[in-house]
Amino acid sequence: MWIKLISPMTTARPMDSIWKTRMAPPLSLLVLGSLTPPRHKVGLEDGNIQKIKLNDSPDLVGITVKVDTAPSAFEIADRYRTRGIRVVMGGIHATSCPEDCAKHADSVVIGDAEENWPLLVEDAEKQSLKPVYRNSVTVDPAKIPIPRWEMLNHGRYLFTNTLTIGRGCPWRCDFCYNSSSNIDSSYRMKSIPQIIDEICSLGTDHVMFIDDNFIGSPEFVRKLLPEFKRLGITWQTAVSTNIGLYDDILDMMAEAGCKSLFIGFESVNQKNLMDCRKTQNRIQGYDSTIAKIHARGMMVNASLVFGFDGDDVSVFPATFEWLVRNRIATMTAHILTPYPGTVFYRKLETEGRIIDRELRHYNTAHAVFMPAKMSPRELVTGYLKIYDDFYSWLNILRRLPVSDSQVMAYLQFNLLYRKFGKQTSMLGRIFGMRRLAEFARRTSYPKWRRMENAGQCNMFMNGETALTGLTTNR
Ligand code: SF4
Repeated sequence: MWIKLISPMTTARPMDSIWKTRMAPPLSLLVLGSLTPPRHKVGLEDGNIQKIKLNDSPDLVGITVKVDTAPSAFEIADRYRTRGIRVVMGGIHATSCPEDCAKHADSVVIGDAEENWPLLVEDAEKQSLKPVYRNSVTVDPAKIPIPRWEMLNHGRYLFTNTLTIGRGCPWRCDFCYNSSSNIDSSYRMKSIPQIIDEICSLGTDHVMFIDDNFIGSPEFVRKLLPEFKRLGITWQTAVSTNIGLYDDILDMMAEAGCKSLFIGFESVNQKNLMDCRKTQNRIQGYDSTIAKIHARGMMVNASLVFGFDGDDVSVFPATFEWLVRNRIATMTAHILTPYPGTVFYRKLETEGRIIDRELRHYNTAHAVFMPAKMSPRELVTGYLKIYDDFYSWLNILRRLPVSDSQVMAYLQFNLLYRKFGKQTSMLGRIFGMRRLAEFARRTSYPKWRRMENAGQCNMFMNGETALTGLTTNR
């Protein structure tokens, strides 16, 4: 069979350039590529880097669906199905709201695909697709294969060095997909040899760990970090705010090459955090956590959410003052968005406060519900203004990192990616996104190097890894 996998184009926010939309490939579809028996031909089209062809005739189309890409996904599916081509849908929105996708698909995959994708492919071959493939077991991370990187046109992405050390998150914040009853968010880790094998498959010593929460298991991370130090990688990841409780892990992260941490602070109002069950966040510990991270030479990318019921228009200047005072290197702000299927969505639905059901607007840049203490317009205006203020010349200078080692990466992100992202991304189109990303890495991290094959990587591995037989030259 010829199986075509599609990731529809995401809806960019006003401040996003193509650096953002072409940041990284859809990892889940590369994993599906690896899970597909080799006798089948598998192709990938990503709407963020190319126009989706709709006049071809694959035997099966698989579409990954996020909430903001759902309308495009449905249009693509309908076009194929009118020509008798079968379409299956999966991904976070298909899992959270399978009934939405079922109207446009022959089959919907609910939950992790590792168990069900090979069965689905077999059924498709026998012309006996089932309407639903629901994952009923917690997938053992050992069954997550290395993504099929050769399916990609690497030069068209900013980063193709993404991987995870596990799945899930120990927390259940109300606005997060991890609160959705269809999503298995139980926290699981891959084995250390598996992670090292995956790092080596990337062919670079700069790695982006895109886990929901890298410190889901502090005990595991304490065992993993010495291996990163041995490998000599440079890396970034996302952690929850309770990282501030683990001074020893912060020390180990810095020694193991971590350069920046994405952290979901979300709000500087404690009641907002308690109301959404983000109980691990304690605002009295925020400043000291940031100081500890900075003192170890790492940068902070603060994630913030606006529109909680405790927020009135004063939330914007209060948050802005906190960001600048703490010299936060980069900020990712969001308008609170009720993702269908989450606890927060059900609450707003019960209260009759959802005012916009156009799913393309569910990209955290629109007010799709009625805020409690400001108007939707005030919420959007404040959100746009905090971006402008944060990335003004004056405030880029005021937030300059104390540590010299962070300055180049800081300026590149603030100026080339954010402030002039629309202009610099044109250079990416001309010279190739990956080439520019490599230039940025070389200037930010002078020791950065490519590891062209896993053989080079094997030199860094410890005995345990080598003994598993997982360190093959793929
Ligand atoms: S800590 Fe982050 S990833 Fe985990 S449930 Fe909360 S918002 Fe989601």
